[in-house]
Amino acid sequence: VTNDVRSFVTDHSADLLADLDAWLRIPGISSQPGSRADVIRSAEWFADACRRAGFPIVEIWPTAGLPAVYAEWASDDPDAPTVLVYGHHDVQPVDPLELWHTDPFEPTIDGPVLRARGASDDKGQLLFHLLGLRAHLAVTGRDNPAVTLKFLVEGEEESGSPNFEALLAERRERLACDVIVITDTGMLAEDIPSSVTGMRGMVLAEVNFHGPDLDLHSGSFGGAVPNPAEAVARLTAALHDADGRVQIPGFYDDVLELTDRERELLARTPFDESEFLATSKSRALAGEAGYSTLERLGARPTAEVNGIGGGYQGAGSKTIVPSDAFVKLSFRLVANQRPASIRAAVEAFVAEHTPPGIECRIGWEADGVAPCLVPIDTPAFQALSRAIGAAFDTDLVLPTREGGSGPEAAIQKALQAPMVFLGVGLPDDQIHAPNEKVTLSMLYKGAEAAAHLWGEFAALGRAGLTS
Ligand SMILES: [Zn+2]
Repeated sequence: VTNDVRSFVTDHSADLLADLDAWLRIPGISSQPGSRADVIRSAEWFADACRRAGFPIVEIWPTAGLPAVYAEWASDDPDAPTVLVYGHHDVQPVDPLELWHTDPFEPTIDGPVLRARGASDDKGQLLFHLLGLRAHLAVTGRDNPAVTLKFLVEGEEESGSPNFEALLAERRERLACDVIVITDTGMLAEDIPSSVTGMRGMVLAEVNFHGPDLDLHSGSFGGAVPNPAEAVARLTAALHDADGRVQIPGFYDDVLELTDRERELLARTPFDESEFLATSKSRALAGEAGYSTLERLGARPTAEVNGIGGGYQGAGSKTIVPSDAFVKLSFRLVANQRPASIRAAVEAFVAEHTPPGIECRIGWEADGVAPCLVPIDTPAFQALSRAIGAAFDTDLVLPTREGGSGPEAAIQKALQAPMVFLGVGLPDDQIHAPNEKVTLSMLYKGAEAAAHLWGEFAALGRAGLTS
């Protein structure tokens, strides 16, 4: 089967390239109001591609913002599990345009890669699915897939998915599934097959300390009234101990610790510290004692100071006790931390560090994003590993953790099904940056993995997936 899938994908790779070329020419930048028509055109293009691939049900789902695409193809096997595939059809802005070597919306093949905005994030990845599905049908001789497939392709991911949770709530019944496949991530390297198993969540806060109602003369009042800038500095300094542990009481209470097996696999992940330092333009590593850099990035929560200020910022000096000071904080969360409990813990910590005579206001940006985690011993992850392994001719598929956050936790929460990540982007794809590219061989491997995955899920059956 591995060979049949591979030959089908190889024989039809030109179809994938032709589709990619057409779709990438549509500049569907969701964050730019002037691109609205293009984002809609992008949705329509993908809907049409799904129809061409054979999906009997294809719909454009409007939202309060930009539309999503929904496609469904039921298996004729009554016991077949239902799989929901998530991706997005919108893209990031392209500026600074002068840093692009080619036109971002003029797809250009350059040896093993194809360059264009959206090539890797996320259009190439969605299109490997369509080729993978054709391979699955051809190789199994079926005229409908071995699993019931549902594709949900969002149009606002690159502008923060503002209407996505509402869409999930509104369409929950149509979206019901036994397993979720996220296709918007990547692998460690071309020759290191891997899959994301965790994404950190986030909450954002701004703490404002208000002291005297106006800036005071530091000679007439300094030393006799509380200084909000000093209070903000004390609060900020109290966030971590000397070992880099966050000192907010309860902060780590819900953290799911890495298992020994996960630590062992993470340790096998190739990671070049000096290269990481070079990329970061930082001169040293820092972080929570007792954890490797990869563990700190993926599996540990953080408290980060994003900005701090207050008082006089101009040239020279100004002898005052300032009236106001602030600090902007972000907290990256890991499984099973919940944004609401972290907010409560931060509020209590800030209250504790607010001196008498200082008025404190905390502003929170939205509700925050919950973290998500794929336990590596679940049948869904094991099936994914086998499918990726078949595409890459290996038994070892490394689990990885992403430091960032997306709408994945919202999907899982709304649909209550196990989730896995099948993505073939590479770390140097320059997504969101000039000269975005995708490695063509990775797209073909993705198509192969997708073709194998539907068979793997079908073999597990609905009961096997959730056990
Ligand atoms: Zn993306």
